[in-house]
Amino acid sequence: MWDPYDFTATAAFFRQYDIALTQLQYEQLAAYAAAMLEETQYQNITAIQSIEEIWLRHFLDAAYVVRFLPDSVHTVLDIGTGGGIPGLPLAILRPDLDIILLDSEERKLDFCERVAKTLQLPAKPLHGRAEELSKLPEYRQTFDCAISRAVANGSMLSELGLPFVRIGGIFCALKGEHYDPTVERFAEAAVALGGSMPEVTPYTLGGNAKHMILVHKVQDTPAQYPRRFAKMKRQPL
Ligand code: SAM
Repeated sequence: MWDPYDFTATAAFFRQYDIALTQLQYEQLAAYAAAMLEETQYQNITAIQSIEEIWLRHFLDAAYVVRFLPDSVHTVLDIGTGGGIPGLPLAILRPDLDIILLDSEERKLDFCERVAKTLQLPAKPLHGRAEELSKLPEYRQTFDCAISRAVANGSMLSELGLPFVRIGGIFCALKGEHYDPTVERFAEAAVALGGSMPEVTPYTLGGNAKHMILVHKVQDTPAQYPRRFAKMKRQPL
């Protein structure tokens, strides 16, 4: 394990994964990690209890996403952001993006908003349930990219995410080592929701197996989607 309290060591560690980290970005991530640990005294922001693990399991995971974003992406919606993963590290690493952090839990969003304000990041909170917000004209098919980690299985995630993505945009899901296409059902759902067949990229980060699932939005999402959350769960696409 490298020393996450040292900028040079951390930048060298991230460079192994082709992620460039400036001193400012390092300091912003370090401040965010400290804020996360502090906030866990008051609410369930993360189950992780050390700065080292926050860097490894949250920040490296989120930072690696940057390579999957094409130049055409300017607006990003992080669905079920929780304590801000992957949206806040993305805002630190790509301050040129407009990032919206969506969650149904207002207290978690309050934390994210405080971090974004303190660190002057281009990230704004959006409170509500994804399946309700994507029905509103101001959000439906308006984002270049929707992204999500640790929120639901592939079928439900596609139904929560793809209605937000404009045609020509992308939907990205971060999955861990247990990714199984027959269980997740990304392909079935993505095609029904106006997406392409998913592109699955396996990789390893800090010794942990990961999968990035990427779906291109190729046509309109039919108006009947998304369905109510309970129905998505009961009858996956
Ligand atoms: N993405 C973060 C991460 O990877 O650390 C948080 C993951 S946490 C396990 C799941 C989050 O998704 C929770 O904060 C929960 O409130 C939110 N969530 C689940 N279903 C949602 C929905 N339908 N609409 C909005 N937020 C939702």
